[in-house]
Amino acid sequence: MSNAILVVNAGSSSIKFSLFLEHGESLELFLGGQLEGLYNTSRFKAKDAAGAIVGEKQWVPGQPLGHDGAIAYLADFLREHLVEHHLAAVGHRIVHGGIDYAAPVRLTAEIVGHLEQLIPLAPLHQPHNLMPIRLLMANHPELPQVACFDTAFHCTQPAVAQAFALPSEITGRGVRRYGFHGLSYEYIASVLPEYDSSVAQGRVVVLHLGNGASMCAVQGGKSIASTMAFTAVDGLPMGTRCGSLDPGVILYLMDELKMDTREVEKLLYRQSGLLGVSGLSSDMRALINSADPKAKFAVELFVYRVGRELGSLTAALGGLDALVFTAGIGEHSAPIRESICQAAAWLGLALDPVANAIGGPCISKAESRIPVWVIPTNEELLIARHTRRILKSIESGESP
Ligand code: ADP
Repeated sequence: MSNAILVVNAGSSSIKFSLFLEHGESLELFLGGQLEGLYNTSRFKAKDAAGAIVGEKQWVPGQPLGHDGAIAYLADFLREHLVEHHLAAVGHRIVHGGIDYAAPVRLTAEIVGHLEQLIPLAPLHQPHNLMPIRLLMANHPELPQVACFDTAFHCTQPAVAQAFALPSEITGRGVRRYGFHGLSYEYIASVLPEYDSSVAQGRVVVLHLGNGASMCAVQGGKSIASTMAFTAVDGLPMGTRCGSLDPGVILYLMDELKMDTREVEKLLYRQSGLLGVSGLSSDMRALINSADPKAKFAVELFVYRVGRELGSLTAALGGLDALVFTAGIGEHSAPIRESICQAAAWLGLALDPVANAIGGPCISKAESRIPVWVIPTNEELLIARHTRRILKSIESGESP
C-alpha cells in the first residue's frame, strides 16, 4: 500500500484534480481529471498516467453538481480507485496568500478564515479555491490539507518591485503588486538546474504563456519582478484578459460609456485579450491558423507586448543569462516562440529553427549569447511535493 496525495485546483465552474502515489522518494502521477460545468451541464472525466480513460460521466442538464456535489462525487470516485492505497493528504492551489503566507501551510479553520479575508483581492478565484477545503474539513476532519499559493514565490521581490505609486492610505490596505503563476515559476526554478546548471543561479526570464499569461524575472532561483501585479489581469494580453492598461481607460469607460463595475470587469477579464482584439477566438492555435487580418494583429500584439516586457524584466535583472518558455503556448507553439525570439534578437539571442520545431528542450544555437529553453511546467507535482513535505513534518512531530 502506498500513500496517495490528492492535488485540487478548484475554479468557479470546474475542479481539476491529480492523484500522486509515493514511491520511495519520488511522487508518481496515478490519475488525474476534472469536473466541469459545475453550475450548468456537469461532466466528469479522469485518466490514468498513460492517458487511458478511467472514469467518465455526464449529468442531466439542469441538475448541476455544484461544488459540494462535485467534491462528494470525487470522494466516492477516489474511494473506489484507491482501494490499494491510502489517501494521506490533500494539497490545494490557492491563488492568494496575501503578505502573510510566503510558503505552503497546513490548513486549519483559523487559517482558512484568514484566507477568506483575502477574497476582495481575488474575488474571481479565492472563494472557489477555498470552498473544497471547508467541505473536506467538515466531512474528513482527520485528513491533513495544505495550501500552496500562487503569490508566494513572488514574496522575495524587492519593495520597489512590489510598490504602486499610490498614497500610503491605499497601499497600506494591501494594494500592491503580488504577482501570480508562482507555482509554475517555482517549479521551473526547481528543475532548471537539471537542464542548465550554469544559468540556474543566474538571471533568467521565464515566460508562462498559457490562456493566462505572465512573465517573471528570476535571479538565483528567486522572483525579483513579474508582469502580473495586484490582480491576474495585469501585464501581458491573455486569452480573454486585456493585460496592462492605462488606468485612464477605466475612468473613460465609466464616465463616458457609463459602464458599471461589473461591466468593466467583464470587459477586462472576459472580452479582451486575444479574443477581444481578434473578434474570433481566445485560442492561440485558432488565431495562428486564421488568415483574418484581425487574428494576425492579435498575435502580433501579443508578441510585441511579450517583447516589451522582456526588455523591462531584463532591465530589472540588470542583464539576462537565459530565457525559458513554458505553459500551453510556450511549450507547444513554435511560431510564437520564433516571433518572440526574433523580437529579442537585440539581446544576442539566436534561435535554432530545427530545435524550435521539435520543441527543444534547448532551442537556441550554440553561438547564441543567451540559451533559450522550453521546459514543461508541472504545478500539480510541485503542490504534491510541498504537501508531502508538510505531511512528513507533521508525522515527525515538527511544526510544519
Ligand atoms: P491555462 O492558462 O488555461 O492553463 P494552457 O497553459 O493550457 O492554459 O494554455 C492554453 C493556450 O495554449 C491556448 O491559447 C492554446 O491555444 C495554446 N496552445 C496549446 N497548444 C498549442 C499549439 N500547439 N500551438 C499554439 N498554441 C497552443
